[in-house]
Amino acid sequence: MACDQYSCALTGPVVDIVTGHARLSDIWAKTPPITRKAAQLYTLWVTFQVLLYTSLPDFCHKFLPGYVGGIQEGAVTPAGVVNKYQINGLQAWLLTHLLWFANAHLLSWFSPTIIFDNWIPLLWCANILGYAVSTFAMVKGYFFPTSARDCKFTGNFFYNYMMGIEFNPRIGKWFDFKLFFNGRPGIVAWTLINLSFAAKQRELHSHVTNAMVLVNVLQAIYVIDFFWNETWYLKTIDICHDHFGWYLGWGDCVWLPYLYTLQGLYLVYHPVQLSTPHAVGVLLLGLVGYYIFRVANHQKDLFRRTDGRCLIWGRKPKVIECSYTSADGQRHHSKLLVSGFWGVARHFNYVGDLMGSLAYCLACGGGHLLPYFYIIYMAILLTHRCLRDEHRCASKYGRDWERYTAAVPYRLLPGIF
Ligand code: NDP
Repeated sequence: MACDQYSCALTGPVVDIVTGHARLSDIWAKTPPITRKAAQLYTLWVTFQVLLYTSLPDFCHKFLPGYVGGIQEGAVTPAGVVNKYQINGLQAWLLTHLLWFANAHLLSWFSPTIIFDNWIPLLWCANILGYAVSTFAMVKGYFFPTSARDCKFTGNFFYNYMMGIEFNPRIGKWFDFKLFFNGRPGIVAWTLINLSFAAKQRELHSHVTNAMVLVNVLQAIYVIDFFWNETWYLKTIDICHDHFGWYLGWGDCVWLPYLYTLQGLYLVYHPVQLSTPHAVGVLLLGLVGYYIFRVANHQKDLFRRTDGRCLIWGRKPKVIECSYTSADGQRHHSKLLVSGFWGVARHFNYVGDLMGSLAYCLACGGGHLLPYFYIIYMAILLTHRCLRDEHRCASKYGRDWERYTAAVPYRLLPGIF
């Protein structure tokens, strides 16, 4: 509403309400409602992504060297299940964007500004899907779970709804809720939303600013990286440890596409053109952040895949051998990496992510607070995630984790935190 009615000034509605120029109900009354067009568009969008996910086995891994797609295995769940996944996110992203560009340059079926033009009506649709999928996941967890032994019931209804009951809810053999909802429709949409914002900026101001180009390019790198490494994503906290509830279901449908794209939306209302040094600085910060994020994640992945038989920064990695007991009472062995970025701080991958996030925000200049939402949110998310993960690792590995924290004393920033 701040963007739609106050050109992205967060203080605008507050000042109006405090000074009596508007009531909350006036602002609410001006909010665009859900429309038939938005509902049709959204249904078409989600159906298209479901079809790409379920009906088109991956062919990208057959011709893209280094890309790992097709049928892949996830991590062992606490109950000892190993799920198989059809990794075809890169293909879905490529086909969707091919269609988008074909439409923009040849077919002209719809305007490239279509997402911006229906932004708030689509928000209602995304909410309906977000709540529907979270509620369905809850009911499914109680009545027909995919793997009953991996369900978690806490006794608190709201906690169960928010954090989820089922670990890997599925419909049929292949439709995995976590993989589908996290990657598509939210992350595939991310780059399309940004392209639509760029098209709208050009329509309104007759050019696309360098800030808009930077936001589009830096976020596209992050999105493509996600799909290129979708197999690696199977080993992240979202898939390996979190249950599927409102936190992931609603978050993927609404939070991610609507709040991760605020910089592009802001730039439609404020066509910031950066000076060359400012633009180069933002680009460098974004690229260095991305480099740290990618290399740190790759180091851990390589280390775990090869069971430590690899080189990190050209040397044999330092290792802490550790063991833990799973829910079924079995004893397992694992290894913690103490070299590379994992020897600099225990979650230096998050630092790279934060640098990239800051770059998107800095691309919007210093006029308003709203585009800085992303870095504030990511700092909270990743600090909380870091503490949550460390708590889990400490109870999983016990003394072995203490040896790791003694060897690498800082969580995020050496000497600070
Ligand atoms: P990590 O990739 O940091 O994974 C943490 C897990 O790795 C731990 O639970 C532990 O699992 C294992 N581990 C921890 N330390 C070591 C070590 N030294 N050596 C080997 N294994 C270790 O966390 P996430 O899954 O949260 O994040 C993955 C990436 O995704 C990050 O770069 C993050 O920035 C990004 N991300 C982005 C988000 C966004 O919204 N943009 C949201 C969330 C994440 P185990 O039990 O196997 O030992």
